[in-house]
Amino acid sequence: MSANDFSALSHLECSRTGATYNADTVQGTSTVGVPLLARYDLERVATTVTREEIARRAPNLWRYHELLPVRAKHNIVCLGEGMTPLLELPNYGAQLGVSDLRMKDEGLIPTGTFKARGAAVGVSRAAELGVSGIAMSTNGNAGAAWSLYAARAGLRSLITMPVHAPEIAQAECVVAGAELYLVDGLIGDASALIAAAVAEREGYQNVSTLKEPYRIEGKKTMGYEIVEQLGWRTPDVVLYPTGGGVGIIGIYKALLELRELGWLSGELPRLVAVQTTGCAPIVEAFERGAAESVAAVNAHTVASGLNVPKALGDFLVLDAVRQTGGTSIAVTDQELLAAQQQLARSEGIFVCPEGAACFAAVNTLRSAGWLRGDETVVVLNTGTGMKYPDTVTIKVPTLPRAGHIPPKPGCTFFSGKRTGEVG
Ligand SMILES: *Cc1c(COP(=O)(O)O)cnc(C)c1O
Repeated sequence: MSANDFSALSHLECSRTGATYNADTVQGTSTVGVPLLARYDLERVATTVTREEIARRAPNLWRYHELLPVRAKHNIVCLGEGMTPLLELPNYGAQLGVSDLRMKDEGLIPTGTFKARGAAVGVSRAAELGVSGIAMSTNGNAGAAWSLYAARAGLRSLITMPVHAPEIAQAECVVAGAELYLVDGLIGDASALIAAAVAEREGYQNVSTLKEPYRIEGKKTMGYEIVEQLGWRTPDVVLYPTGGGVGIIGIYKALLELRELGWLSGELPRLVAVQTTGCAPIVEAFERGAAESVAAVNAHTVASGLNVPKALGDFLVLDAVRQTGGTSIAVTDQELLAAQQQLARSEGIFVCPEGAACFAAVNTLRSAGWLRGDETVVVLNTGTGMKYPDTVTIKVPTLPRAGHIPPKPGCTFFSGKRTGEVG
């Protein structure tokens, strides 16, 4: 197999002007300051590989290597990421009145969040292009994932996070040997520090959200997988918890690529960008009919991955939602925490607050009639709840050493019913 067969990457394209850029040098954003999108020779892919051949490959995201940017197989940095389960949720779906509700469970991926996908592809490609250090500002999970993948690739990492970023993400950076700084401010402040540092440091690339072209490529594989796992059929609706929007931009890109390859049957799914009421710039822009968002003020939410006041790719998110007949909706922290608990109690899955926001949104959209109830609805659970222990309030009795456990449980969800009421 020649290098061109391994990846069909042809060039990069400005997502606003369509201007083309060389894909084989280190690139940041386009000259007008917006993300660059990777383009492939899809005609060639259609003649060199089939869906049946892909189905026989190892169950990780590199099974789509022709449609990924890494040119040489030996440059792949893999920790087993991808092909996460697409679980049916019959109990919870019945409670919400959605008969075919499914969850793409990114809680089961290295580093515990789907940030691993962007990191795997982004780090592999950066190393292939000769970068020696990655630098980024992050709300936590991306820094954790990129630090760990960078360690495996032998790259240095420089990370800044707001001081209130989850402690577990800080720990992951530290254990991976990253150079980590906490910033007494928000993500924007952390980003300014990174931009200044990268300008002074030889060999470092700024890989913050959408500042380089390949994180989208990693995340788009969620779109390929959903379609492959449904037998190369599209679902009717996909809900995505939207912070920087990389995942939803990627999923939309993946769907367009599959359609161009002729590998898709069915209409494109309606894409739903879910945010929280504490930080909802995309929802607000969607409702105004605007092409871009206005920065959210006093942004706050327990779903830290969604705490992005102004996303660089906001116009691409809004375009994906509108082109597919989707929508954008915000839920409260209270609603998402209730959904997190209800899902755990009816299906046995502890989802992250960002994923839980999407389930709360399914509930709202079903009640409003936007979801009819008979569609195939896929929710992206972008990470494991275990990375967010603070989202659960633990109030349980402590027994004295020689005490005794009450004969009857105090709460009704131990009643033996599978999906019964919760206490
Ligand atoms: C980063 C993150 C998000 C938001 O992802 P984007 O693609 O930037 O919109 C959602 N959930 C979790 C768990 C995250 O870490």
